[in-house]
Amino acid sequence: MVFLIAVVAIVGVALILFKARQRSRARAAAREKYGKPCPSCGKYVHPAAAICKHCYARLPTSKA
Ligand SMILES: [Zn+2]
Repeated sequence: MVFLIAVVAIVGVALILFKARQRSRARAAAREKYGKPCPSCGKYVHPAAAICKHCYARLPTSKA
């Protein structure tokens, strides 16, 4: 019985870690696809954009 609980706990933790990794990977993919996040509104804009198309805030131009 204790063994069963331990297995369930391990599987649960593994599932949570797996989902967190999947989420961070999806975020990285979104950043690659849509560009950099706007520091003002948080939406993704084109990496070369100087002004956010969502809130018209001035964006820091970084080539990194
Ligand atoms: Zn914005």
